[in-house]
Parts: sequence; structure tokens; C-alpha cells
Amino acid sequence: MNIREKVLIVEDEKGISQFIAAALSSRGYEAIQAHTGSEALTIISSHCPDLVILDLGLPDMDGLSILEQLRAWSSLPVVVVSARSHEKDKVTALDLGADDYLTKPFGTDELLARVRAAIRHTRTASGNSEIARQGTYTVGELTIDYNKHQALIRGENARLTLNEFRIVALLGKYAGKVLTYDFIIRELWGPQASSNNQILRVNMANIRRKIEKNPAEPEYFFTEVGVGYRLAEGS
Ligand code: CA
Repeated sequence: MNIREKVLIVEDEKGISQFIAAALSSRGYEAIQAHTGSEALTIISSHCPDLVILDLGLPDMDGLSILEQLRAWSSLPVVVVSARSHEKDKVTALDLGADDYLTKPFGTDELLARVRAAIRHTRTASGNSEIARQGTYTVGELTIDYNKHQALIRGENARLTLNEFRIVALLGKYAGKVLTYDFIIRELWGPQASSNNQILRVNMANIRRKIEKNPAEPEYFFTEVGVGYRLAEGS
């Protein structure tokens, strides 16, 4: 890594904060820490971090309100970490503009993967939105070919329908990130589309049947129960 990316960790539990900071530093990131919400808001304006890891349970304010304030003026990537495992909290955080959500406890590898995906996505999105719509995206034995509108699995055309391909293409564009059901529906079928997940579920079942070796234990298309879907991150 040539440029050291600056990551702000907002976490009141100092043990966890230190642990995350150590994991990030060992991978070449510059880690800075804030232990309260107000400290976080100050540091965000003064230090311009490249990414924020945000705990929701802070002593002086709810992490969601920091997210809300931040999203009023910035698209800085935010990965929310929380002990709250309720699906509603995840959906709220993602709908308020969090880039990703991790439930405590989590492993270092998992955290670093989410950080990489969130930073990479910002780059692609701000650089050229066409990047992710052209060329190919490969993870394991799956290749999404954006030019030919095909998905190849183990070298064979998976023969996806147009709707199936559009779902796969969208997940590929945001690979490594969880996309909520509502987000996927809005992106593919417009803001007026019914927020009924049934069509999405049927399509996803078909996608898995065509692509996964064992649809019950997917290697590529993961379900975040009650929240949405995530495509595995490739290189
Ligand atoms: Ca906390």
C-alpha cells in the first residue's frame, strides 16, 4: 500500500478500540481513535479520515445520529459495528447510509475485508461509475461479464435470465458489501417498485441453483437474514 489510508475508529470500549487499531496498523492503515461521539465529529472535520468504523453504543450519543449528521454533508465510507444484532438496526444503519454493518463479536479478517470493500467501492464510485458496468468481475470460479451480460461459472455460461443477471451485476458492482432488499429493488425496478421481497427471493433462489454447487451452503451469494444479500469479494 503506497498511500496510508487513515481510518477513524469510534468506539468507547478502549480494549476493542485498541484491538481494531492494532489490526489496522498491522495492515498498513493509519488508525486514529475517538471514544465519544462529540470527539468523533471533531476528528472527522479536522483529520479527514478515509473511512470511519462506527460503534453505535456511545456514552454521549447514538452512533446512528453521528451517521445521520455525517451523511448530511459527506459520503465518507462508514462501517458500523455494533453489539445490536436486531435486523431492524442493521436495516436502519444501512438505509441511513452506512456502507456496511458488522455485529460484535467479529474477527479481524472479516473486519479488514469489509474495510477494503468499503474503501474500494468509494474509489470506483467517485472515479467513474461506468467502471463497474464494463469489463468483468471475478471471484473464485464465478465471472460476471458486464459486456456480454453473462455470468460464467466454472467456465460455463450460467444462463441467467435478464432479471437474474441484473441482480448479479448489481451485487458484483458492490461486491463484499451487504445490499438491503429495498436498495436492490429500487436500483433495479425504480423507486415506485413494490418493496415486496418475494420476486427478489425467487430470483435469488434461481441464481443460486444455477451458480452455487450447493445452494444451501452458498460460496458466492450470501443472505444477511432479514437485511439483504452480499456477493463474496474477489481480488
Ligand atoms: Ca460501545
